[in-house]
Amino acid sequence: MTPYYGKLTWEEVRDADKDRVVILSVSATEDHGPHMALDTDTLLGTSIADGVAKAAPDEVFIMPPIPYGFNEHHKDFPGVIWIGPETLIAFITDVTRSLAHHGFRRLLLLNSHGSNHSVLDLAARKTVIENEIICVSASYWNLMSDRINAMRASETGGIAHACEFEAAMYMHLDPAHIYPERAAKQVVHNPDSRYFNLDLASGGARAMLMRWWSEHSPDGTMGDPTVATAENGKRFFDAAVEETLGLVREMRALPILPRKDHH
Ligand SMILES: [Zn+2]
Repeated sequence: MTPYYGKLTWEEVRDADKDRVVILSVSATEDHGPHMALDTDTLLGTSIADGVAKAAPDEVFIMPPIPYGFNEHHKDFPGVIWIGPETLIAFITDVTRSLAHHGFRRLLLLNSHGSNHSVLDLAARKTVIENEIICVSASYWNLMSDRINAMRASETGGIAHACEFEAAMYMHLDPAHIYPERAAKQVVHNPDSRYFNLDLASGGARAMLMRWWSEHSPDGTMGDPTVATAENGKRFFDAAVEETLGLVREMRALPILPRKDHH
């Protein structure tokens, strides 16, 4: 049976192994500096899901992705399509409610856009409460921050948005649509701050202030794409697939636990 949900027939859905992990990729359509395309987050997230499907075709189903996210703070840059957080939570939980209705009980909301992180966390929690199934949310870079730090060329501050990390993987996945000659180093988000460090591999900012993107980045970039290489992109990408597969396998082993009402 194909791992691609959209390629199943309804009879195959009826008969499917409901303990496969259903992966819903959620991304964004937005500025990624002068050197990268609007589809950056979507290409990276869906390619990681595809990599997992290729490595473990009998363990997952891959949903058609949601290519829009919570990013109104980017709209000073032409091209951004933004979805309000309440709309996004409602949309995602309608998808997860549908999947639960058909009997699926292990869902993974796989995030590839920074500001979706808290939205997907809430959507996953709502799904668990409403449907009493397992629903996990994860931003893929958090699954591999130790490995990013072991492989990166840039200092802290070099990996945030349209940065060394994203540019390298895009070079590996779609070299025809990235323009490294236009890339500029923009380490502009207080990498030395104890509290406001937005580096994706730093383990998460201790305190959050999300400014309008145009307030702190002159061209949309945050980080250092000038040190990105396709070779390192392949290493980052392979690690992302491995760690996402690792998460999938832990999810498959999780027990479905009964509630106990202590009233
Ligand atoms: Zn991005």
